[in-house]
Amino acid sequence: MHSPTPIRSYPMMEHFYTLQGEGFYQGRAAYFVRLGGCDVGCVWCDVKESWDGEKHPQLTIPEIVAQIKSTPAQLVVVTGGEPLMHPLDDLTTALKSAGLQTNIETSGSHPLSGDWDWICLSPKNLKPRSPKFFQKRTN
Ligand code: SF4
Repeated sequence: MHSPTPIRSYPMMEHFYTLQGEGFYQGRAAYFVRLGGCDVGCVWCDVKESWDGEKHPQLTIPEIVAQIKSTPAQLVVVTGGEPLMHPLDDLTTALKSAGLQTNIETSGSHPLSGDWDWICLSPKNLKPRSPKFFQKRTN
């Protein structure tokens, strides 16, 4: 018997509607999705509470999209932690289906997943960029 596809969820450290404070989109209203989990270990990290993904509640993709759509946000910034520790294709598919623009902030230490309108790459010495980060995906 065919079982239904499980709905993907992610450990959610925090999520909120605000202004992007830095980079190309500085000043743009944006919904921040801060996913739990990071294995990079920067000593200067100001979000160490993000490192253990198991300490954060799981939110499903429909729950995340519903939260975003309850605000005027048109731009979503997915950050962490290191968001690419999670497979993000299903998340960005849902965000784009909802008419949202997708940005990601990453260290590049894991293979790239997801469909992004803008990638902010902030490499860290402690964990080199994944060789698969720059591979162009054909699917
Ligand atoms: S990659 Fe980011 S979240 Fe992870 S330890 Fe470094 S500064 Fe913190």
